[in-house]
Amino acid sequence: MLENIRIVLVNTSHTGNIGSTARAMKTMGLSNLYLVDPVTPPDGKSSALAAGAGDVLANAKIVSKLEEAVAGCGLVVGTSARSRTLSWPMLEPRSCGEKLIKEVDNYPVALVFGRENSGLTNEELQQCHFHVCIPANPDYSSLNLAAAVQTLCYEIRMAYLNKDAIPSEETEYPLNDDLERFYVHLESTLTKVNFIRASHPGIVMTRLRRLFNRARPESQELNILRGILASVDKSAEK
Ligand code: SAH
Repeated sequence: MLENIRIVLVNTSHTGNIGSTARAMKTMGLSNLYLVDPVTPPDGKSSALAAGAGDVLANAKIVSKLEEAVAGCGLVVGTSARSRTLSWPMLEPRSCGEKLIKEVDNYPVALVFGRENSGLTNEELQQCHFHVCIPANPDYSSLNLAAAVQTLCYEIRMAYLNKDAIPSEETEYPLNDDLERFYVHLESTLTKVNFIRASHPGIVMTRLRRLFNRARPESQELNILRGILASVDKSAEK
């Protein structure tokens, strides 16, 4: 169960943080680490800080894009130390742990962490279903990356130890890849019918992503939406 929870670090600059993350994960029973485009690949400093979690570090998968790290996941949660201009569905750390445990029986799930200096970009945050913020000291709320990993993995562990009291998710949600394909289709159809101007796309797609994220369509509902788009495409072509 816990091996289907991916911890994803995006564009990490300090290799020590990669090692400390591996250690934070292993102490909480997690093992599936993804590194998206690390500034420097894991090195001796990472191994030193991983200590007894060298296996988690050695098995880390290095990919170049966030899409690759979350491919096949049905739930993606992004972490952020501050609220962004366009607010997104939020989870508390505790409910984040419970949600990941509730859904991980159905498909892989991912928890995504940002860069030490600038966090996750808006575009990366928009690829997540939910955001989670550790409610730290408002005057100084930015934790060290590996400390944030430790805190949220602890909540996953607490939920895991209490899993008998957490019913599995029965709703069938689509995988991230299907949702992304839907967004591509939606944008293409809206462009075809001139609702979106290719020269001035604006933030319509961001707003629509937020709308569909908030609604979180089930697999069958997403099929209906795809079907509607296909009909519109057909009419537009006539
Ligand atoms: N200056 C950055 C903070 C980066 S801290 C910013 O403003 O976004 C590095 C990473 O640690 C963040 O991207 C996030 O993944 C995690 N992190 C740090 N503090 C956090 C908090 N309070 N809640 C959730 N995640 C946090």
